[in-house]
Amino acid sequence: AAAAEPVVFDGTGSLRDGHRVALLANVGGAPDAAVAAAAHAEGIGLFRTEFCFLDRTDAPSVDEQTAAYRAVLAAFPGRKVVVRTLDAGSDKPLPFANAEDEENPALGVRGLRIARRRPELLRDQLKALAAAAEAESALVEVMAPMVATVDEAREFAAEAHAAGLERVGIMIETPAAALLAAQLFEIVDFVSLGTNDLAQYTMAADRLLSDLGDLNDPWQPAVLRLIGEVGAAGRAAGKPVGVCGEAGGDPALAPVLVGLGATSLSMTPRSLGRVAEALAAVSEEDCRRAAEVACNASTAADARVAVGAVLRETH
Ligand code: PEP
Ligand code: MG
Repeated sequence: AAAAEPVVFDGTGSLRDGHRVALLANVGGAPDAAVAAAAHAEGIGLFRTEFCFLDRTDAPSVDEQTAAYRAVLAAFPGRKVVVRTLDAGSDKPLPFANAEDEENPALGVRGLRIARRRPELLRDQLKALAAAAEAESALVEVMAPMVATVDEAREFAAEAHAAGLERVGIMIETPAAALLAAQLFEIVDFVSLGTNDLAQYTMAADRLLSDLGDLNDPWQPAVLRLIGEVGAAGRAAGKPVGVCGEAGGDPALAPVLVGLGATSLSMTPRSLGRVAEALAAVSEEDCRRAAEVACNASTAADARVAVGAVLRETH
């Protein structure tokens, strides 16, 4: 019962030694953004824009989109808001964006890949986002989902810059992107790890199949090692590495992610307090040791045990 008690977040994420780790919220629209602001999230680390348009059969106009984005930005004045362009397809099909007849939708034309067939959808969205950012004087950062190549990142960044958006990033959700993180950082200002999809694609296990939950686990050492590649590339480039998959809201995993190089964690607002509490109990050195034992473990279960042992020693 004690585990269900909410822990209040005071609005500043940091380690015991004062090292800052921004704790941000995942939202799908204005009602979520209000909840996130009430929970003292430091900003928004993932605005899943496709959630605004799930019931649409026709594409939303630029004006409609601008209004939807302004409503979210207005909840976080002067704060960072990371907006993800439409991640339609696979588990979140949008009738106006996705073909109905894909045999393997998780491996199909989803996320940024939709721009191959429908470049106007991406252009309209970026135009609406730039208009919303301007109208709200907001600190908008834009990122693309489901990137697998440097060329995709380059084309996305060019489109975003052409629309007038300055801070451009990508999600790291494919092993290909994780392995090429250093090259991707030559193009983008930041990355955000989508650990739900990164686990799905690394472990080749459908994230919707609960029977495969043991494979779809961010504690899997193979997944952690890929996250570590990205963190190392971020450190070398001096650029931010966020985590916005469910892993970011796991208080036991948070020190590991920071040790692997995460500079911010984004999560469902109700997880903010527990993650803040877990981070406030550890130092940077603790995080580095936790990351090292987790990556050197042979199994997810061993990683959990090893990290638990390392962090208990510090108390
Ligand atoms: C992820 O894949 O981890 C992620 C944050 O994106 P989504 O869950 O919306 O696919
Ligand atoms: Mg994803």
